[in-house]
Amino acid sequence: MTIQELGRMTMSMFKPVSDMTVSEWADKYRRLAGSGSSEQGKWHTDRAPYQREIMDSFSQRGVHDVTCMMAAQTGKTVMFSNMLGYVICVRPGPCLLVMPAEDDVDNYSKERLAPDIEATPALRERVFSGNESTIRMKRFPGGFISMTGAISPGGLKSRPIRNLFMDEVDGYPASAGVEGDPVLLAKKRTQTFGSTAKRMCMSTPTLKTTSRIYREFLHGTQEEWEITCKHCGEHSPILFEDIRFEKIETIVSEGQTEYDVTSAKWRCPKCGGMMEEWEVKRAPAKWVAHNPDALKRGHRSFHINAFASPWADWKAECKKFLDAKDDPEMLKTFYNLELGLPFERKETSAIPDQLFLRREHYNAEVPNGVLVITIGIDTQDNRLEYEVKGWGRDEESWGIQYGVIPGRADEESTWEMVDELLDRDWRMENGKTMRAAVTFMDAGGHFFDAVVEHCNQRRTKRIYPIRGDNKDSGPLVHHTKSTKKGLNLFILNVFVGKRAVLYNAGITTPGKRYMHFPDDEEKGYDENYFRGLISEQVRPVKKRGAYVEEWTKIYERNEPLDINNYARCAFKGFKIDLNAFERRLYGETKVIPADTSGRPQKPKGLISGGVKI
Ligand SMILES: [Zn+2]
Repeated sequence: MTIQELGRMTMSMFKPVSDMTVSEWADKYRRLAGSGSSEQGKWHTDRAPYQREIMDSFSQRGVHDVTCMMAAQTGKTVMFSNMLGYVICVRPGPCLLVMPAEDDVDNYSKERLAPDIEATPALRERVFSGNESTIRMKRFPGGFISMTGAISPGGLKSRPIRNLFMDEVDGYPASAGVEGDPVLLAKKRTQTFGSTAKRMCMSTPTLKTTSRIYREFLHGTQEEWEITCKHCGEHSPILFEDIRFEKIETIVSEGQTEYDVTSAKWRCPKCGGMMEEWEVKRAPAKWVAHNPDALKRGHRSFHINAFASPWADWKAECKKFLDAKDDPEMLKTFYNLELGLPFERKETSAIPDQLFLRREHYNAEVPNGVLVITIGIDTQDNRLEYEVKGWGRDEESWGIQYGVIPGRADEESTWEMVDELLDRDWRMENGKTMRAAVTFMDAGGHFFDAVVEHCNQRRTKRIYPIRGDNKDSGPLVHHTKSTKKGLNLFILNVFVGKRAVLYNAGITTPGKRYMHFPDDEEKGYDENYFRGLISEQVRPVKKRGAYVEEWTKIYERNEPLDINNYARCAFKGFKIDLNAFERRLYGETKVIPADTSGRPQKPKGLISGGVKI
């Protein structure tokens, strides 16, 4: 070895490590444990080339903020782990990793980070084991990774941090305890490090009005992954509106349509040329900044949807859209998780006066089209208010009766009237009668125990106590047991439910999700009812630095909206076999004349057969 060679070798050994990028580090050292992700073994950035620039922006000089607004299935978590690995090996310093809740942190640390460290020798050598590293704290020479949930102000406020990793920021609470916006709290901790601090923010977005990641994205360079068209050579992002797909529709039971997507291709918006999925995924592509000035402020932001991901199948994506397109909540999920875009809700266009004017004449108490009846009951201190609603296919609904039962929910006389309502036979056009299949009764307020106990005594009548939950995600109806005595209780996702009612009220064409109302004055659908139905609005408001959606009353009496929601949840919360109901009500069985003699009529099994909890 010559002295020059030795010199070169020595130089290369002492080459500043910061010259290495995150993707170079990952390609050289990173091993995937195969836990939580489908892949195992050596990491290859080329597998999903869009990840290179995102990861490398973290090691790029002059860039302090990196924002990624991404679809699910785009490899977000693995990129996070690569950046953490890079910090441990190349750029050590104090790090903070923030996830929405403590559980998220623990799961990530145990199920992703720990196996990745174990599988990657370069990390295994550096991360201290034993007492020096815990689930929420990993120490290594020159630094540590502290992990916390965004809900905890303590975890966000202690020491100065050089590298801040914020995951799923749209899932953070508006405030960490009473301390304010967790994103602002965490960012403050990087101030000490000035221009050497790095802040990484990743999330699937939620609503356009309140999304944190969307606002961060707008502040940054707004880079889109754009592919080269094989026909015209121009660059374009792969937008969902440019995906052309063919489908086969099959009407299956319960009025549901099933979709089979047979082909999906991309149409170049510049020249109209078509490209196959595999061609798009292999086409030369690059990130194009639509707000390049943000680079001067050191903020790069990226958006990517599932159509660019090697882990997503286009036909399956299109099917997800078809399954979601008629339901605003499912459509929101499609926008957020598949397109990586914030969702913009259409404001309800329902106007109480117009709903009042469109009331219609029914030929019977229960008009044709209704296959099942549900009841919602609201519990007030001195009365119950209820609505009887009929349901047909595609969630088309008919108001049947809105009324009041005077009295307290802990008085026997009140429950006698509830029994009358539950046992009542509602006349149909063909002369048969039907009873309520399910009733949901509000157990909130002052009569929780009385409502739960009375409902549970009447289980055979399928009346169930309910309680509202103010979360804005999760299932619409959740069956649980009341904490005391193991009695039945259902939890309703009130915001999601009321939003659906307001959406339905805004539909103006009879058919799917349309709401019918009778013009018979005795049925209770007066002007006040409709003002009460459209009594609340959702508005984005700024609270302690973060935007949240807030429900505001625009009319004081909001019971009709709540009760409509209860009745709808009673319909949506069970596997109701509409075909079975239809056969019984309109099928071969002989016509049962309505009981007009006033003598109590026994249940004829018309209803119970089709309802399953
Ligand atoms: Zn083209």
